[in-house]
Formats: sequence, C-alpha cells, structure tokens
Amino acid sequence: MSMNDDVEITPGMKHYIEHSDKYLARRDKYIQNVVKKWKFDTIAVHGLYEVTEAIEDYQGSIIEPIFMSTSQAYRDSDEMAAALAYKIPTWAYSRIANPSTYYYEWTLALLEGYGFNGETSCCSTSSGMAAIMTAVQPFLVMKKDVYEPRNFVATSQCYGGTYQQFSIRLMQERNIECRWIKDATDIDEWTKNIDQNTRFLYGELPSNPQLGFFDIKAVADLAHAHNLPLIVDSTIATPALLRPISHGADIVVHSATKTLTSSGFGICGAVIARKNLITNIDNEQLKADFSLHIKYLQNRDFGPNLHPLQAVMTLNDMRTLRSKIDLMSRSTMKVAEYLKKHPQVESVQYLGLKDHPLHDLASRYMWLVDAEHDEQYGKPTNRYGHLMSFCVKGGADKARLFFDGLQRIWRATDLGRIKSIATIPAISTHQQQGEEGRSLAGIPPNMVRLCVGAEHPDDIIADLDQALYAVK
Ligand SMILES: *Cc1c(COP(=O)(O)O)cnc(C)c1O
Repeated sequence: MSMNDDVEITPGMKHYIEHSDKYLARRDKYIQNVVKKWKFDTIAVHGLYEVTEAIEDYQGSIIEPIFMSTSQAYRDSDEMAAALAYKIPTWAYSRIANPSTYYYEWTLALLEGYGFNGETSCCSTSSGMAAIMTAVQPFLVMKKDVYEPRNFVATSQCYGGTYQQFSIRLMQERNIECRWIKDATDIDEWTKNIDQNTRFLYGELPSNPQLGFFDIKAVADLAHAHNLPLIVDSTIATPALLRPISHGADIVVHSATKTLTSSGFGICGAVIARKNLITNIDNEQLKADFSLHIKYLQNRDFGPNLHPLQAVMTLNDMRTLRSKIDLMSRSTMKVAEYLKKHPQVESVQYLGLKDHPLHDLASRYMWLVDAEHDEQYGKPTNRYGHLMSFCVKGGADKARLFFDGLQRIWRATDLGRIKSIATIPAISTHQQQGEEGRSLAGIPPNMVRLCVGAEHPDDIIADLDQALYAVK
C-alpha cells in the first residue's frame, strides 16, 4: 500500500512496517480462505468484522463500533511517521480513513466483487454525487502547462444530478466535453463518440427513472479496446441483482443513500473498483488500486469523506439487502402488472415486464444473487428491482391530480426506501435540466416514478387504485 516512496524509512519505522505486513498477510489469508467462500448474505451480515477482533479490541461489541473520533494517537514518532507516509494501514485522521468506514468499505468491495475472479476495493464517499465526482476526476487530469482537449462518453439516460454534474460543472464550467449517448444499446453510437481525447465511458443502469439499460460486456470490451475504463452507476440494481465488475466494468459508483440504505437514514456513497484497471492515464498507482489511490490522495485533498456514523447505519441496512431486494422486486412486478391493465394508465415502464423493449437484455444481467442456493428458488432467478415508472393518461395535469390523491404512498424525491414513494421527475429530480435535457433523457411530463417498498403489495395497489379513480 506504499503511496509515498520519498519518505526515508528509519529502523524504528521498519519495526511497525514489518508488524503491519504480518497483519496484512493474515487478513489477506482470512479474506481468501474464509470470507470469499461465504455466500452473499453471510458477507453482507459480517463483512470483515470478526469475533476475535471484537473481543480483543472492542470489548466484545457484536456490532461494528462507531468511531466518532477525529483522529488516532500513535505510540511514538516512528509509528506516526510510518502511518502518515501510508506505510502501515492506520487511519490517522477521519477525513482520510476511519475504522467504521473501513468495515463499510470492505463489505461493499466484497459484495460488488462477489463471484468476480479478481480483487476489488472500495472508497466510501459522503454521497452518491461525491462518488461520481470522485470516480471521474482522476481521468480528467492534464499534463503540466499543456492544455489538452478532453472528453468522455456517457448515457444520456441518467440521474438528474449526474446530468447536472456532467453538463454544467464539467462541460460548461471546465470545458470538458460530455458526449451523450442517446441509445445506449447501440454499440456503434458508443464507438463513433470515442476518439484519442476520450478519457472514460460512463453508463447508468438500470437508469433512474427511465430504466435505460445497455450491454455491459459489449461496452466494457469497447472501452478496453480503446484503453479506457468503463464506469457504471449501479445504484438501482445493487450488488444483490447485478455486479458490473464481473461483466467487465472497471469502476462502480453507488448512491448508497438509496436501496443500500433502505431505512432512509442519511446520505451515503461509494466507489468500488477492480484492481489493475485499464486506462490511458499514465499513473501506475491509480491503475494498481484505484479506490485506495483516490481515498488516500485525491479525497484526502478534496474531502468528500463519509461520516463514521453514516457508514455503520448503511452497513446495518446492507445486511439484509438480498432478501429485501427480492421482496420489493416481486411486489413491484405485481404493481406493474396491475398498472398495465388500468384504463387510466397510458404506459408502464418496468424491466420485468415481458413487453419492455429492454426486458431480454436486462434478463441477461439481472439475477437475484444466490437464488440457485435458495430453498425457495433452487435455480437462477431473474429479479428487476423496485424502480418502475408509468405515464398517466391525459397529460401533466392528470398526472399531478393522481399524484396529489395518493394516501399511503409518500410524495417525495426519493427512492430505494422500505416505504413506497412516488415522484413526478419532470417537476422534481429532472426539473433543473429543462425541457431539452428532459426530452434527451426521455422524461415526459406525465411520467410518475414509483418505488415500491416492503408493504404488502395489495395495500399499494389499493392506494394507486383510489388515486387513479379520481382522474377518470
Ligand atoms: C440518487 C442518485 C444519485 C446521487 O446520489 P446522492 O446520494 O443523492 O448524492 C446518483 N445516481 C443515481 C442513480 C441516483 O439515484
């Protein structure tokens, strides 16, 4: 993990480095021989937090302690010097690292890397937007004193905040061109937009709220053929349904705020990357361990770090991710089928519906993890998540009338909750980008985004039914 090779190593520092190397070797063995052999649910519940460690270091606390302290004290100057030179895995100062965020990071790295034949690591961030910024920033560097035109290629169907970050902060304010892909399933369109100034490819899938999807493997192969990384926003799927890195993607970003923290307790993000990633950026450290690189260098200096309290809250929610996603996906399917038959509904968009144009493509990628090891299923089983949208007949006014009539479903610009939530993207999440941006992203004014929670689906259907009755 050596990040600073200019530091002179004193004999005293050497003692600490040898000690920590032994610890790292032990940890690596434990990961390879024990944790990597567990099923998804076991990793989600325990991560790297061990019984012996809890008893020896944390008074037996069965839940990962929340380390609210800003900083760590050292035994002596040698340990301090070794730590601050990143020669030993200590945490120093909470903006750089923290034991609570450490457990969160490892759990996510292992879940995103589940079934992947290689290593992954994670850098926690204060939000999903911070994760996206953190992930794209290292690819936008320029050589000293020379202006270089830079561009990247991204799916136009994406979260409203991502559209803002790319089109305003990067394009307008920094002159970094974002080339929007209109049809992400069209590999030719991706290919045509790549040139010698391209730095990375970026895709969100399934996209929020339009449920855009693309062939991850084909786009990853294209990226790699041009010596570029593919970055994927996998917020909606979560690792319980889709793990893009195992299909060739290099970096995954999450708004852990959403389904990963289904309780709704706070804002949270993460970047997960494969080790040894492919990029035309000339930086060996960045290639070797991207997450660690951004965590210890870039984010140390920018400061979009995650709060330890939030890390443990999200970690706690993630333990039951697989079963929650399964339940909510099944309920969403029921609700989608109900809405499809409703005379007041113009169209329903849900990847689980057979007539959705992207159903077949999504079915190749979206599987409930470990369904084949589950008593209930016993075989690979498709699940499509709990995000859907539909258009209310009669235009924007009717959509608002329906929306205002909801009684059980919450009206909020939120998703991924244990509680069902609906929003009208044109007046909320996608309001800032104007008519043109919305039309590019495929967001009509009468579209309602619905995220089905863990209530009994009959009660959600009853609420939708009474609200739709009112617009007849
Ligand atoms: C919400 C969201 C984000 C932004 O995440 P925050 O945690 O709100 O900063 C990014 N991508 C997707 C797909 C989202 O839904």
